[in-house]
Amino acid sequence: MSSLPRAHELGLIGCHVCGLVCRDVPDLHDATCPRCGAALHRRKLGSFARTWALLIAAFFFYIPANVLPIMRTVSLGDVDDNTILSGVLELWVKGSPDLAIIVFTASIVVPMLKFLAMSLLLISAHRRTAWAQRQRAKLYRLVEFIGYWSMLDVFVVALLTALVQFGILSLVEPLPGVVFFGLTVVLTMLASMSFDPRLIWDSKETHD
Ligand SMILES: [Zn+2]
Repeated sequence: MSSLPRAHELGLIGCHVCGLVCRDVPDLHDATCPRCGAALHRRKLGSFARTWALLIAAFFFYIPANVLPIMRTVSLGDVDDNTILSGVLELWVKGSPDLAIIVFTASIVVPMLKFLAMSLLLISAHRRTAWAQRQRAKLYRLVEFIGYWSMLDVFVVALLTALVQFGILSLVEPLPGVVFFGLTVVLTMLASMSFDPRLIWDSKETHD
C-alpha cells in the first residue's frame, strides 16, 4: 500500500471544502482553491490539538451526564429521578428489557467505544505507525457513521414521554443530565470531524 503514490508526490492537493484537486505549490501559505476560494492545506490545520481538546471536553461532560439524573418519572404518585444507569435498571425491571438494551447501548457502550476509538486513532497517528492502517481507516469511518445515530438516547426520552400517552407512566420530565449527554454527543461528533484521516497514512517509512 505504501507503494501507492501520494498526492503531494504527484504535485496535487485536494480542497477541503469542495474537493477539487488542485496543483500543489511549494509555498502553500496563501494558496487558495480556484473553484471555491478556500485556503488550501495538505492536512487539516491543528487536527491533533483540536481533536484532543474536543475529545477531552466531551469526556468531562460525560461525567455529569452519568452522575446527574436525566429524567424524572412519576407513576402512581411515585416520583423517581433517574440517572442513565438507574433508568436502564428501571426499564429492565419494569419489563422493557429491549428498551433497556437500546438505552444502555446508546448511552454507555457507544460513547465509551467512541472515546476509545478516537484515542486509539489519535495516539497511533501521532506515533506515525504503519500498524493496521486499513483497519484504522475502517475504524474511523465506523466512528463517523455511528455519529449519526448517537442521539438515540435523547429519542428514548422522547419515546418515554410518548408512553405517558398510553397511561403506562403518568409523567416523564427531562432533567439536566440530558443536556450534558447532548453536549457529549455533539463534542464527540466534532472531534471525529476535526480528525484528519489522512494522518493515518503518514507512516514513518513513507513520510519525510
Ligand atoms: Zn474548493
